[in-house]
Amino acid sequence: MNIILFGPPGAGKGTQAHRLVHDFGMVQLSTGDILRQAVKEGTEVGKIAGELMKAGKLIPDDLMIRILGERLDKPDTKNGVIFDGFPRTKPQVEALDKLLAERHSKLDCVIEIKVDENALVKRIVGRYVCSKCGAGYHDEFKRPHKEGVCDICGSTEFKRRPDDNEEAVRARLVEYHEKTAPILPVYEARGIVAYVDGMLPMGNVATKIAEILKEKGAKPISA
Ligand code: AMP
Repeated sequence: MNIILFGPPGAGKGTQAHRLVHDFGMVQLSTGDILRQAVKEGTEVGKIAGELMKAGKLIPDDLMIRILGERLDKPDTKNGVIFDGFPRTKPQVEALDKLLAERHSKLDCVIEIKVDENALVKRIVGRYVCSKCGAGYHDEFKRPHKEGVCDICGSTEFKRRPDDNEEAVRARLVEYHEKTAPILPVYEARGIVAYVDGMLPMGNVATKIAEILKEKGAKPISA
């Protein structure tokens, strides 16, 4: 099953994708993660992407489409993928259709995580993760039980994304409204969009998404 998690930055796409990997054994394809890795490794792609990402701007379509095609060629994607952060523009929508068709596959479902945008800046600017295990925290909403120590792995090192500051978040929201939000009607016209309330507690959002996927035939790992 191929699904897209759709919504503005801070809607919780990455968090929910992690849950689906855990609960359904699906593969998460986060283009943001791929780019961050490229920046870290200092590759050619990383050099192009780094500054744009820091400024909250989208990376050019041709580059993103090439990256996605290469990722879809890896064998772990054969049984389906959760697209987290792709597509973000109309040309990327067309490219995804083509890339999947070439691989005898198709998109099954788009899940829009609906959020109150006033909450987003606060959500994003306060978030950070454990450098070791990736567990997510928030300055205001979810501090570790013991200050400065990861609840999961005990590490004392944490990191924040360089584009999780207020200025970059506002730029990311502008990009979202101009280029990404307009692609939702394309999928709505195909009748494949389901909606969840992203303002509910994280666990409830996960339950709703799981219900949608089970209705479509996805099987949880424990079942
Ligand atoms: P994300 O982790 O999904 O929030 O993405 C972080 C940043 O990576 C975005 O603000 C963009 O600069 C870049 N990016 C990720 N995915 C895409 C995409 N599909 N198209 C263009 N830029 C992207």
